[in-house]
Amino acid sequence: MTALESFSDLDLPALRAGIRGSVVGPGDPEYDAIREGWNGRFDHRPGAIVRCLGTADVMAAVNLAREHDVPLATRGTGHDYAGRSVPDQGLMLDLSPMKGIQVDPATRTARVQPGVRWRDFDHEAQAFDLATTGCTVSTVGVGGYTLGGGTGYLARKHGLATDNLVGAEVVTAAGERVWADGRENADLFWALRGGGGNFGVVTGFEYRLHPVGPEVLAGQIIHPLEAAKEALTLYRDFMAEAPDEVTAYPFFLNLPPLEAIPEELHGRPGLILVIVHTGSPSEGAEALRPLTEFGDPLLSAVQPMPYTAAQQMFDEGMPGGHRRYSRAQYVDEISDDAIDTLVEWVAGLQGAFSSAYFEPMGGAVNRVDPQETAFPHRGAACGFHVLSGWTDPDDDQRIMEWTDGFHEAMARHATPGVYVNLLSENEGKRIREAYGNNYPRLAAIKGRWDPDNLFRHNHNIEPAG
Ligand SMILES: Cc1cc2nc3c(=O)[nH]c(=O)nc-3n(C[C@H](O)[C@H](O)[C@H](O)COP(=O)(O)OP(=O)(O)OC[C@H]3O[C@@H](n4cnc5c(N)ncnc54)[C@H](O)[C@@H]3O)c2cc1C
Repeated sequence: MTALESFSDLDLPALRAGIRGSVVGPGDPEYDAIREGWNGRFDHRPGAIVRCLGTADVMAAVNLAREHDVPLATRGTGHDYAGRSVPDQGLMLDLSPMKGIQVDPATRTARVQPGVRWRDFDHEAQAFDLATTGCTVSTVGVGGYTLGGGTGYLARKHGLATDNLVGAEVVTAAGERVWADGRENADLFWALRGGGGNFGVVTGFEYRLHPVGPEVLAGQIIHPLEAAKEALTLYRDFMAEAPDEVTAYPFFLNLPPLEAIPEELHGRPGLILVIVHTGSPSEGAEALRPLTEFGDPLLSAVQPMPYTAAQQMFDEGMPGGHRRYSRAQYVDEISDDAIDTLVEWVAGLQGAFSSAYFEPMGGAVNRVDPQETAFPHRGAACGFHVLSGWTDPDDDQRIMEWTDGFHEAMARHATPGVYVNLLSENEGKRIREAYGNNYPRLAAIKGRWDPDNLFRHNHNIEPAG
């Protein structure tokens, strides 16, 4: 039975009757807006979209997909680089209407539904000067981000988002609701922390929170490309000794048309150091001095600001709808050779909205044993990510080939492994690389919780046994 045939066999009015939310099909006016994902390179058309309002809706949709053998995809907020959360044909389980957030300041925990975006979670938690590691772009949702790992400005101090997950409500492939934490269904809980959407639909996330802010020292320092080698060398040495409160990302991208930047550099590649110190602003000023006093920047704007503002400072630079292609790897050490290779490729940056950056790991992220959660990358100094962005479909091939070339050139300086949340749609072979030695255990747990691979519209772990 193909997906389309099975859909024409389905009784959509009956499905609608069993759902508290809504069921949207190709003929409905809101269909196009709802199926849009962040990566504009994909134009996937689900057979139907179930807009879930609660756990019961998720159970009904999962049961329907399983009983009728309809391909099923789970979508939180649709930021997957690989476009897998919006299926072409099949049933899309849209969790974005589930937006509940409950913060308990006494236990420093929060219960969050899967359609919540980080900006809303931060808003609620900061009412109590609390936060947990969240995405560096606050429009991204909690779901796929947390289940794949979840890096961010608090990660070096407090661990990945997934390290701060203390429990989860899950709808399984059998359509049953279970709770998973360190004691109950501990195998499922282990797999959820890094294993992505392979094991069920998470309808509730419980997070540990930490005192943060309300003000932190954060901002950006912009350097011309000529200063990049020296700046990166300083960055490498600085991060090797930096306290856990410090997170800094050297971002290479086309410089924006700001007044402070000479006009001839507008739209030309340059370096933006994005910096956050999550401790007290006065300690931050001292700790960040090597970065803030370096060179002759085009612009230096590091200042105390609300934690919520720091979390949102990159949002405008990452709008949805552009065509995107992502290639990523890990780096044990930013060698002089790696810096040379990077600067050479960045000088020829392709795509108006493209960027390449190092993301620092270390600190609390690397103090977790690689086997403690499904996320195994606990030794690298940083991640390296080329994220190309453009608008004209005619440029797809040229820019994607350039991105692959840049990735391969940097691979000489990389270590095996890749962060699953940064994989593109054509990187199925790298899924094992994303889990390293944890893959066999993940496959066994998948075999227990989803033996027929109902949840396969993702970076798929095939069930063992
Ligand atoms: C602009 C931008 C900035 C980013 N910045 C960061 C960053 O700072 N750090 C970082 O770690 N990553 C970052 N990412 C990558 C991000 O972690 C992934 O794109 C992630 O998949 C986004 O989560 P989502 O819920 O929006 O994804 P979706 O596209 O909605 O879902 C992706 C997959 O996750 C699974 N999934 C989602 N929700 C659930 C659920 N409730 N239950 C079960 N499975 C589910 C499904 O398998 C789905 O296919 C960024 C991505 C973008 C686009």
